[in-house]
Formats: sequence, C-alpha cells, structure tokens
Amino acid sequence: MNKKCIIIITASVLVAVLTITLSLVFTRYQWDPNDTEELYLSNVAKVGYANTIETAIPQTEIYNMVNAHFNSSLAEGKTEKKAIIIGYDGCRADILAEMQSENSGIKALLNDGARINLAYCGGVNYPEKNTQDTSTAPGWCSILTGKWADVHGINKNYVVKSMDTNTLLTSLVEDGKANSSSFITKWKGHFVKRKATYVKEKAYAEDKNLAVNYVLSDDDENSVALTTQELQKADCADFLFVIYEPTDAIGHSKGFSYNNPKYKEAFKTADSYGYDTISAIKSRPTYDQEDWLIVITSDHGGLKTQHGKASLQERMTFIVTNKG
Ligand SMILES: [Zn+2]
Repeated sequence: MNKKCIIIITASVLVAVLTITLSLVFTRYQWDPNDTEELYLSNVAKVGYANTIETAIPQTEIYNMVNAHFNSSLAEGKTEKKAIIIGYDGCRADILAEMQSENSGIKALLNDGARINLAYCGGVNYPEKNTQDTSTAPGWCSILTGKWADVHGINKNYVVKSMDTNTLLTSLVEDGKANSSSFITKWKGHFVKRKATYVKEKAYAEDKNLAVNYVLSDDDENSVALTTQELQKADCADFLFVIYEPTDAIGHSKGFSYNNPKYKEAFKTADSYGYDTISAIKSRPTYDQEDWLIVITSDHGGLKTQHGKASLQERMTFIVTNKG
C-alpha cells in the first residue's frame, strides 16, 4: 500500500467518524437540557395568547363551542351551519411562536380576527397533577365529548370509550343538527385496533345507520387530501374532525423541544396542512352562505421524546377559533 492510499483511507475513516458524531449530536435534541420551563414561558409570551397558564381553558370547552354553534340561530344571509376541528397532534403551545406569515392555518384565522387561547389537557390545570394521561386518546376524547376520563373512561391510549357519553360525531348527527360527520386520521388507535377508543361508538353508529364516517388515511398528506376531497363535495359533512400528526411523530423520534429545528419544521408542516384545509373551506362555491366554526387545537404537548405526564410542556395546549 503506498502513502497516497493510506492518506485516502485515513481521510475516509475521519469523514465517517465525523458524520456519525454529527448525526449523534443532532439526535441528542431529544435530551435537550435547555428545554426549561423558563424558556417555555418566554416563548409562550411571544405568541400573543389572550390568557395565561393560570387562566388556561379546559380543552373540553371545544365541545361546548361546537354545540353552541349548532344550537345558535343562523345569521342573516346564511343557510347552513358547519364546523371543523383541525387537530395538530402533539403540538406544544410554545412552538406557535414560530408561526409563519404565509401558508399558516393559524395565521389565516388570526388575520380574520380569530381568538387564540392557552388550553390544558390532563383533567386539571397545571400545576395540579394530571388526572388522565396527557396523551392522544384522552386529549381528543375530552375535546369530542366535553368530559374528562371520570366520565368517558379514556385515561390512557388503547382503552375503549364508555358509551355513557358520546362524541360530537355521533350526537350531532343523532340529534339532527348535522347531516353527517367525518373523522379523518391516520392513527389506528382511534377506531381501527381492537382496543381503539371509538370501536364501540363506531359500531353504535353503524347499528343505528347514522351518517358518521370514520376514515383511516395512509399518512398525513393523505389526510389532507381526503379532507380536501370531502370539502369539495357540495353536501360535505356538516361536522368534520381531522388530525394532522407531524409534530407528534417528530416529537417522539427527535424530541418535543422549541430548540429542536426538526420539531419547528414539523409544526410548520402541520400548520401548512391547516392552511390547505382552511383554503379548501373558503373555496367552496357555497362558502358565503355557510356559517363555519373553525377550531385549530392540539391534544397534548410533549417533553423530551414523550408525553403523558404532568410537566408544563405536556399539559398546555392551545385553541384558535374564528368565533368567540
Ligand atoms: Zn397525540
């Protein structure tokens, strides 16, 4: 082996070592020691929330907002009530400080005069200890039923919901407030797996022949496409619930942290899906005659690569709505 050859091999080894080191450093965001409560609070303050952590709204309030919307009388010139909850799964309240001026669903609502509030999951407000996991199934179930786990029974993922209380998806259709409802998600834990949250409620709707559509997508982009397709129908569902998951996916793989550029990017992606969804609503030929309630929210936050527990970063969520 000549000298030149040895130099090339040594250089290649060095490049390989450097690449591995850099990738290890990059994935270390999941152990971010700088993701402190202090940093969290300073970024939350930048967002412009109308309330504080002490006065955060229970996420169950979204259920009341949707019911109040369908029970209120139609405004002059409007012929139909419609509502959508757009979910950004695992989206922390502080990351909204990274909101873009373009292609942002939240910004689009704010530009139209929407309200933005801090909300909380987990059953009771921080700093009291949570009474249900700050996780996906409990969070969305509390939003859809207006109840906490003491009533719906969903204190963690993979528990079948009690039929003592039903979601807006079923109740609005059963009560004749909505022609049909549609739930679009890629996560099989909601209504596909054996112990999924809504398996009983889905069977109940099928038994009663209610127009409640449970739609499983292939991935987030497919969720956007399926939601857009639904919104392009002249007689689209009066109540839609769609969940976009980039923030949860990246949070679990790379870390839920304001300092993590991957998590920031995931938020921008989720928010661009929200923008596409709102654009599809506004593009409806009958949009001017329709009275839309649009809500963007999240089910829980996250810390390190997890959620479920009692930290501030996991407990706080947000509610953006185009109606008071
Ligand atoms: Zn979640």
